[in-house]
Amino acid sequence: ALEVNGLHKSFADTRSRGPQQVLVDVSFHIAEGEFVSLIGPSGSGKTTLFHLIGGLELPTSGDIRIDGRSTIGEQGHIAYMPQQASLMPWLTVSANIELALTISGLEKRHARQLAIEWLNRIGLGGTANQFPHLLSGGMQQRVSFLRALLSPKPLMCLDEPFGALDALTRMHMQTWLLSLWEEAKRSVLFVTHSIEEALLLSDRILVLSSAPATIVREIEVAFPRPRSEALWSDPAFVG
Ligand code: ATP
Repeated sequence: ALEVNGLHKSFADTRSRGPQQVLVDVSFHIAEGEFVSLIGPSGSGKTTLFHLIGGLELPTSGDIRIDGRSTIGEQGHIAYMPQQASLMPWLTVSANIELALTISGLEKRHARQLAIEWLNRIGLGGTANQFPHLLSGGMQQRVSFLRALLSPKPLMCLDEPFGALDALTRMHMQTWLLSLWEEAKRSVLFVTHSIEEALLLSDRILVLSSAPATIVREIEVAFPRPRSEALWSDPAFVG
C-alpha cells in the first residue's frame, strides 16, 4: 500500500522569480490491490508526483511510504512506466524486458520465457530480437508497458501508458492491463487524460487541480469494473 502525506514540491525558477511551486500539500493513499487513476490538467504536476514516488526527485517536504516504510529518494522499488517509452537502444526488445525482470530478481531463463510469452500475447512476438528503433512509437510504448508490468513490484505507476495508441490497440492494452492486474493484484496508480478510461478501469479517481496542484476531488467509482475477458472482445485482433 502507498501513503502520501503532505507532499510539497518546488523547483528553483530559472528566471529567478523565486521557487516555482508545483505540488502543494498532496495527500492520498492506495490500498493493497487497489486501482487508482489520477487525472489533472496538462502541466499540473502528475509526472512530478511520479518522480517523487519513484525516487527520481526529492520532495521539498512531506512523506511517502510504501507498506509503512518511508521510501523518499529510493529508486527501483516500484514498477514505473514513464510517459515516453525509454527503451535501451543497444538492447533488443526482448532483452529490454528481460533486463528489468532479472533486476527484479527473476532467474534469467524464466525472464526470457516470460518476455517471449507476453510479446506473443500482445502481438509483438516477431519483434523480440529486433532493436527498438525499428519499432513504431506505439509498438515501443507496448514494449515499455510490458517491461513495467511484468516486474514483480507491489506498486505500478503508469504515466499515460496508452497516450500514443490508436483506439483499437488502446482497447486491447486496457484488457491486458486488467488481466495482469487480476493475476497479480498489485496496487496501481494510473495517469490518464480520459475520464472514460479512468471510470472504466479504476476503483477510485484522484483529481489534481492546475498548478500549483493539490488533490481537489476524490471520486469512488460506484459501478463494478468488468472482468478483463469481458472488457472488449475482438477475436480478429492480431496486434
Ligand atoms: P502533462 O499532463 O502535460 O504530462 P504533468 O501534469 O505531468 O503534465 P509535470 O510534467 O509534472 O506535469 O510538470 C509540472 C510543472 O513542473 C511544469 O510547470 C514543469 O515545467 C515543472 N517541472 C517539472 N520538472 C521540473 C524540473 N526538473 N525543473 C523545473 N521545473 C520542472
